[in-house]
Amino acid sequence: MRSLSQLSAFCLAAASLVAANSSGGSACRTRNVDVAVVGGGASGAYAAVRLKEDYKKKVVLIEKEKRLGGHVAEYNDPVTGIRFEYGVSQFNDYGPARAFFQRLGVTPGAPRRNPLTQQFVDFKSGARVNYTAAAAADTAAAFQKFLAAVAPFEEYILPGYWDFPPPGRIPADLLLPFSQFVKKYDIYAAALTIFEVTGFGAGDWDHALTLYLLSTFPHPMIRAFVGNGTLFVPETQRNQDVYDAIQVHLKDEVLYNSTVEKSDRKPNGHTLWVRDSFGGGCTIIQAKKLILAIEPTPANMKPFELDAKEQGVFSKFKYMVVHVGLLTHPSLPLGGSLVNLPPAAANSYLALPKPTLIPRFDHLGLNATVFRSMVIGNGSLSVAQAQGQVTSSINALIAAGSLPSPGSGGIQFKAWSNHGYMHAHFSADDIRKGYIQKLYGLQGHRGTWWTGGAFSMQLQAVLWAFDDVLLDRMYG
Ligand SMILES: Cc1cc2nc3c(=O)[nH]c(=O)nc-3n(C[C@H](O)[C@H](O)[C@H](O)COP(=O)(O)OP(=O)(O)OC[C@H]3O[C@@H](n4cnc5c(N)ncnc54)[C@H](O)[C@@H]3O)c2cc1C
Repeated sequence: MRSLSQLSAFCLAAASLVAANSSGGSACRTRNVDVAVVGGGASGAYAAVRLKEDYKKKVVLIEKEKRLGGHVAEYNDPVTGIRFEYGVSQFNDYGPARAFFQRLGVTPGAPRRNPLTQQFVDFKSGARVNYTAAAAADTAAAFQKFLAAVAPFEEYILPGYWDFPPPGRIPADLLLPFSQFVKKYDIYAAALTIFEVTGFGAGDWDHALTLYLLSTFPHPMIRAFVGNGTLFVPETQRNQDVYDAIQVHLKDEVLYNSTVEKSDRKPNGHTLWVRDSFGGGCTIIQAKKLILAIEPTPANMKPFELDAKEQGVFSKFKYMVVHVGLLTHPSLPLGGSLVNLPPAAANSYLALPKPTLIPRFDHLGLNATVFRSMVIGNGSLSVAQAQGQVTSSINALIAAGSLPSPGSGGIQFKAWSNHGYMHAHFSADDIRKGYIQKLYGLQGHRGTWWTGGAFSMQLQAVLWAFDDVLLDRMYG
């Protein structure tokens, strides 16, 4: 394989249209566009459609996978033919979401519900936990209180932090660790539900700020829990349909299996050297503007050669790592949800497991024996480590008698997604030093614009609304 410098030197030399590369065979194309978007997940794919269709811009979307959709994940069981969704599960009826479905020709429907019987167990010791779940009426009342308590902050954080208060004027509640916020507003009865929904994002509530909790469980989600907000999916129950429809709208504007190998970013125009990991071909993109819709992790940012201003902001981010897998195991209860809680949960709604953690094992129904499990870590967490944690948790539950013996059967992983780094967040100190404003100060810097979870929330509909603001600022 040729080195990057050889490739780049060659591609630069091919200043006009097409030239042969040093392997003598394939061609290095050039493409001139108004906007190059990197990352075809929720935020990048939506931005590309709007740029093409509403702003009439020439656009190219660079996506490293062979499909669009990011965290959407499905598994088609080759034996039973059953399809399981194990990534994104639903869309909030927020901002442009419903109209966007309509534009795509995707009919919305109610998400299929799969009622499960909960059992509370400690995944470390394997022992049952004598946890008494709050009564439904108390939980509903706690959610109402939660919504009322965070209502004043909506304008600061949704659909992004464009109007976040400057240091010195940040509401103290937003920087409270979420466990203290729960105590202050006496919303204990909502704690387990919030944890179950955000368990994969917010980590340890003794440290996770309320602001950060709200980025994984923002106002539209709270409204859905108080019966004042709708959740929907494609009526086919297949979330990938949304992104397959985007693919149809964008046609040849997407470069799949592609990553940027090198870039030259200038305020008035960019050159991107893009490599197709399948065919090995390269495309040189000349773009007037650039939107980066990928997590700004050091690995992702390497080809974009961050300057000191960009590096100074992104180096402050802390991340969580998220894995989701599908598995079978003869001991796991059909129709059941095993909820992981520490023994202290018997006496406190705020006693919750801390990362690295598995929130639950959930049976997925559909007349199959498949269970879904997440594994959440603070730092790096390999697939082997995550799967090892699942296996040892089930073994502990069997050894403690909380699950029956599997006989001669054992664990089988059917599918696994390493969602990698997500849930970028700053410390309270950095927020007090103005890092949210510094983050937003990067918009337009070096002709580069930013979208995605790190700049807004971890919710697709909110990201689409965020993009609306972003595009308006780019071209308004
Ligand atoms: C398990 C799970 C369940 C979820 N459930 C829901 C849900 O039910 N509802 C909801 O609204 N949200 C849900 N979310 C959150 C939602 O998926 C995210 O908030 C959203 O996808 C983030 O969008 P994004 O554009 O920032 O990133 P992503 O959607 O992750 O998109 C990034 C894209 O960039 C591509 N990419 C990455 N690196 C590169 C590179 N170097 N070059 C080119 N391409 C690259 C990736 O392949 C991906 O397609 C869930 C997330 C997870 C992990």
